[in-house]
Amino acid sequence: MAQYAQVPFLLPGMHTALQDSVKWNSDWEKLTNQFKHVSPAQFVQSSALQLALESDGMDTSMLQYQGFLGSLVALELALAPDTVRYLSGGLQSKWTEADPAVREKHILIGLSNACSIAKNLHDARIYCGRDFQLSRLRANGEIVLEWLTSLVMPANGRKYSDLLDAPNYIPDPVWDAYAEQQKQSGASDSEKLALGTILVLRSKLIFHVVQYTLKSFMGEDLPTYNVPKFSKKRNPQSAAGLQKSDIEAFTKMMLGKSGAKAYVKENKAAWQDRQKDRKEHCTFVGCMKANTGTEKYPRCKKCWENMKREVVYCSTQCQVADWKSNHKQVCGKPLSFDSVSKPKLTRARTPEEKAPIHATEAGLHSPSMTVPSTPPNPPSRAPVIGPAIGNYKRSPLLTTQIERLNRSPQYDYIITGPVHENFIAYPDDEARPRFRKCREKAMTTGDRESIAIMAHFLCWMTIGSEGAIELGTTPNVIVAQLKKEYLFDELHLAVKEMQQRQNMDPFRRP
Ligand SMILES: [Zn+2]
Ligand SMILES: [Zn+2]
Repeated sequence: MAQYAQVPFLLPGMHTALQDSVKWNSDWEKLTNQFKHVSPAQFVQSSALQLALESDGMDTSMLQYQGFLGSLVALELALAPDTVRYLSGGLQSKWTEADPAVREKHILIGLSNACSIAKNLHDARIYCGRDFQLSRLRANGEIVLEWLTSLVMPANGRKYSDLLDAPNYIPDPVWDAYAEQQKQSGASDSEKLALGTILVLRSKLIFHVVQYTLKSFMGEDLPTYNVPKFSKKRNPQSAAGLQKSDIEAFTKMMLGKSGAKAYVKENKAAWQDRQKDRKEHCTFVGCMKANTGTEKYPRCKKCWENMKREVVYCSTQCQVADWKSNHKQVCGKPLSFDSVSKPKLTRARTPEEKAPIHATEAGLHSPSMTVPSTPPNPPSRAPVIGPAIGNYKRSPLLTTQIERLNRSPQYDYIITGPVHENFIAYPDDEARPRFRKCREKAMTTGDRESIAIMAHFLCWMTIGSEGAIELGTTPNVIVAQLKKEYLFDELHLAVKEMQQRQNMDPFRRP
């Protein structure tokens, strides 16, 4: 076991992040200081050796890496609208002018929450060097803003659609230099996988820290994440390449006999606690829905039979979507780094995403939310949806929907499914005016009855329309989107009631 140099560290316990974030953070900072001399090459070599020793020939790690990549892209795409909203809402000055102590408070909340999502994210702090030194972040609010604005396109001429080929990484001179060196040196699959995983987790962690920090600073709800459950059972304490006895000896050396016992016990309890919350996730990165039911998700037969690889889907739609965008290249076959190193399509590109997105001085145009590059019909000049009436305050999502519809008045609504965007246009001359009347009232006044009728209408019309399911625009997707646009939490119930009323009267149409 001793023929290679491991880099064993006793990492601060993840379970203390939220319990005692001040102590947890200072433990991390002490550790960061200790390993500032560890080079990227040492980190990569150590983790590559562990990977090479995996019993299943890295198959699980490859799949896991592909999942990390997909979730990094999904995170960046999800953060993009927040970024636009924050930056056009004057966040920069509020943040830099805030008292350093206030900034510190929110950064600590950001750090501890981001690190509490999952153990691999928590431990990725080891790859962030001095990035997260509290005093440095507090003194200079600019760093957090720099991370945030790295999501504003175009940076280096990139477009949002480019994220689907390669996500945004947070630049770092040391890691970047090593990555360049690795490209030239003909690295092995395990070395590529090790570096890839480190870089993805590092950026993921930083983006989550930015997300939680700024949400906390703005007084918004902190998001929660479901962590996928992996079928392979591992000892939580042992990195794959290390013998259990090595770890025990090392822990005893660091903490003494009773200290080591307590450390192991505490970590084990925390691990068991986390496992309880883990759920099976749909493999399709455009969905990733957690399984909350009692039945297991069905798995891909060929992957299971050939490779004992559990690839599960929540639905046939997701399996079809994943097959087209990704799975067909890897199904039932041994994986290589190249076959998993692209996030692949989290969803198909819309015409809009192919068009460049510009940041202007007046504010930022939102990412996947600008005009179609070539609308099928020239848009009319007069806005088709009027301004808000009275003191109705529109959500940023609703404002975006209205801007898009006003630019492309041939559409009645735009629903963003997990695979495609569905540009809904009713041909029915009788239905359209009624729908639009309802839409106008909902969008200008926030009238709840109108929103519910409109949602009901969209569900009803979309179910019957061809291709809706393939586009991923199911009633659940529609209602979930409208719920967010109109900040209408009980919309599901309201739509259900409409449906019940309709069932009782077969002649009633939405
Ligand atoms: Zn799914
Ligand atoms: Zn398969």
